[in-house]
Amino acid sequence: MAADLRYRRILLKVSGEALMGGRDCGLDPAMVAQIADEVEAVHLLGAELCLVIGGGNIFRGVSGAAGGIERASADAMGMLATVINSLAMQNELERRSLDTRVQSAISMQAICEPYIRRRALRHLEKGRIVIFAAGTGNPFFTTDTAAALRASEMGCDALLKATKVDGVYDADPHLVPGARRFERLGYHEVLSRDLQVMDASAISLARENRIPILVFSIFDKGGLAEVVRGRGRFTIIAEEG
Ligand code: UDP
Repeated sequence: MAADLRYRRILLKVSGEALMGGRDCGLDPAMVAQIADEVEAVHLLGAELCLVIGGGNIFRGVSGAAGGIERASADAMGMLATVINSLAMQNELERRSLDTRVQSAISMQAICEPYIRRRALRHLEKGRIVIFAAGTGNPFFTTDTAAALRASEMGCDALLKATKVDGVYDADPHLVPGARRFERLGYHEVLSRDLQVMDASAISLARENRIPILVFSIFDKGGLAEVVRGRGRFTIIAEEG
């Protein structure tokens, strides 16, 4: 059943902002449902799926620190925000009868599993979707880096970065008409041109572990399933040459 897949085990990174839909902050249930539909479609194709969800729709450590909260505490608040989003996504996936586990980098036994690499691998082998919550569990990091870290630990074939647009551009295509879109980029090029796709530590980690990063739009219906088959519209960031 999985023969049609270019990438068999994937990690999908969804920013917290994507879950806001048209709102100013928090969760838009319609948007959570739309992303769950995309995940379900890929699961039905036979892919093994991990998710990392950001927390920017609820709280960002940097903003909290700017408001006077000590940075490490502000980041802890940001990490808790990712747990809220992860539980919302788990709920939506389970409504579709998809077996889903949330594993948190910060232990919260009453509501989810602690992060245990071998257990997470076992879940994937059994066809369960695993959502990694609370980022890396450390302040001064982002969920992009957490995504690259977990993708490396899980031996993922690709890291899929869901965005509002269909790939990487040299400027924001919503603001700059005629912005250039890239089909393919090297990790080094992303870093040297400061293209703002993911933070530098996430790109470096993916590079070290030779995990391609596929940047695509989460707003194209059926888009995720197309990307996992190596079709559709996306920018691939991989080894140069
Ligand atoms: N965060 C953290 N360590 C991590 C991951 C996240 O401290 O390993 C905190 C950080 O404060 C960040 C917030 O969690 O601002 C939300 O994550 P992020 O900004 O990456 O979410 P996104 O932009 O993807 O919505």
